[in-house]
Amino acid sequence: MFTPERIEATLDRILLKVQKPGRYVGGEYNSVSKDWGAVETRVALVFPDIYDIGVSNVGLKILYDQVNQRADALAERAFAPWFDMEALMRAQDLPLYSLESKHPLASFDIIGFSLPYETLYTNTVNLLDLAGLPVRTRERNEEHPLIIAGGHAATNPEPMHAFIDAFVVGEGEEVIHDIIEALQENKGAGGTRRQLMLALAAIPGVYVPQFYEPTYLDDGTVSAVTPLVVEAPPVVTKRIVAELPPPPTRFLVPNIDVVHNRVSVEIMRGCTRGCRFCQAGMITRPVRERTVEEVVNAAEEAIASTGFEELALLSLSSSDFGAVSRLVQAVSDRFKGKKLTISLPSLRIETVSIDLMEKLREHRSGGFTLAPEAATERMRRIINKYISDDAILDTTREIYRRGWTTIKLYFMIGHPAETLDDVEAIADLCKRVLAAGREAIGWKARLHAGVSTFVPKPQTPFQWVACDTRDRILEKQALLKRAFQREKNIKLSWTDPEDTQLEAWLSRGDRRLAEVIELAWRHGSRFDAWDEGHKPEAWARAFEETGLDPSFYTHRQRRTDEVFPWDHISAGVRKNFLFQDFRMSLEGQIRVDCRLNCFACGILPRFAEMRRSHPGETWKCPDVKSPGGRLTQTSALDLAPRGV
Ligand code: SF4
Repeated sequence: MFTPERIEATLDRILLKVQKPGRYVGGEYNSVSKDWGAVETRVALVFPDIYDIGVSNVGLKILYDQVNQRADALAERAFAPWFDMEALMRAQDLPLYSLESKHPLASFDIIGFSLPYETLYTNTVNLLDLAGLPVRTRERNEEHPLIIAGGHAATNPEPMHAFIDAFVVGEGEEVIHDIIEALQENKGAGGTRRQLMLALAAIPGVYVPQFYEPTYLDDGTVSAVTPLVVEAPPVVTKRIVAELPPPPTRFLVPNIDVVHNRVSVEIMRGCTRGCRFCQAGMITRPVRERTVEEVVNAAEEAIASTGFEELALLSLSSSDFGAVSRLVQAVSDRFKGKKLTISLPSLRIETVSIDLMEKLREHRSGGFTLAPEAATERMRRIINKYISDDAILDTTREIYRRGWTTIKLYFMIGHPAETLDDVEAIADLCKRVLAAGREAIGWKARLHAGVSTFVPKPQTPFQWVACDTRDRILEKQALLKRAFQREKNIKLSWTDPEDTQLEAWLSRGDRRLAEVIELAWRHGSRFDAWDEGHKPEAWARAFEETGLDPSFYTHRQRRTDEVFPWDHISAGVRKNFLFQDFRMSLEGQIRVDCRLNCFACGILPRFAEMRRSHPGETWKCPDVKSPGGRLTQTSALDLAPRGV
């Protein structure tokens, strides 16, 4: 096996031949280097995209801190080498190594992949291979590290079941410790790899695919996914933390320019809005908030320890943070006079959002971004992001009036029940917004319309719907390009339909897609989210060789009683609730913010004990009363789901 010294020596020879050698050397300020020989368990945390993107990933940062806080363990990092570096690594037989100590990944005890989205699947397989490991779980033995993965894509882990030994479903802050301890116990007891897998399967929130077997109906849909051992629960429910742990403050300072050179502080987790297309909003419930003081202190500490000049206050819906006004005031006071750009993403379309941004005037950057997601009131009812056209126009006019010259509006095409009129309305609405801008500030007014394509995701109310075909997407995009042709001050951007198809079949795929993923990788596909990497022909060939029909996964409306490949994985929200919400969307009915009216989505009964022991304002679900003869609020809610 390559030693760290040999890896360093090889790097000395090859790094000057690659773009951005700084991606591959580590040694960043605030990185943690612990004594390899002094700890019992070594964890490699891998973000399977290039360093420039992965280094600022907050999930990775949280786990890096969690593991490195343990005296008996260390965490180091690895990222996907870009094409030039991979070619040199393969030519020199140089295995994938960690940035901190330059140990080969194969010498770690645990390799943990972060899988926030599906276009990282081929990279994950590629990195296992680059690490010199068998890519398939069944080919690995006691000599090999345990391969785990987590992230939003783990809410349907089935397409990756063949490559990953165990998935973490939900939040990783506590589970990572349970996994390390299970590994240590198994090692101490001289247990086998199978015994370790059985121990992992018994940990709440951990899914070990080898202990489950799917069966299929004649039409190719899943009939059932059955556990094969008693340790494997029929349904693996996500793990959550009752309270968000203190945010990381010692951010790594990259030695090269990366996508986000900034401090990110998560102000809250979860979302109560219930947008029907949004997987993150459904799977990260319940909402748990940090206090203003905790956020501001963490931001200050992180800025001081990094020297970064940008602060991002992260959440799925910043305007919904309970004390957002106080937070913005506190941040603006604390950093008064400092050269710092502060971003507050995902603001709601209302004048109060402009007030918030105005408070940050001294620290604001560039344009103002809003996401109506659809351009007609009918569509916005269907997707449950209702706001009137007048409110959009009033808000955007006010934004221009208060000094912003560019507004970025995000839309999606391909929503269920969308017509070409709904697509054309995107152009009409943008033109009306720009006209309002011209009235306010004249010809300086600019607009950027970002139009992506909707992909139905598992664990959402739209998990039953068909995705638009490639031709239909192209037709809609052509319509928009024509409609914007003469508008010099409107910039239009869109997503490649090939990328949409890939994301669509992987996100609702079953176990049979593992073969397709491996073949696509063997045919050269990797970096699927990148123009330089994604090879549609490799995927087409892979589907052909396996005899699977890609449209089965993308363009098929699911039966209402269909068993989904991911039904044995639960994000805490009941399938019945999602279905009821889907039916409401067909009737154009909306649900209000569930902070105002709990709809009994399933979260409270699932985490009743946790809520009971953490009463009060941190969670945005209703309190759960103590048991003792009285009907608890949880069970009452569970019995009486309410719509609007
Ligand atoms: S339990 Fe009620 S308040 Fe909590 S997330 Fe679900 S619907 Fe919203």
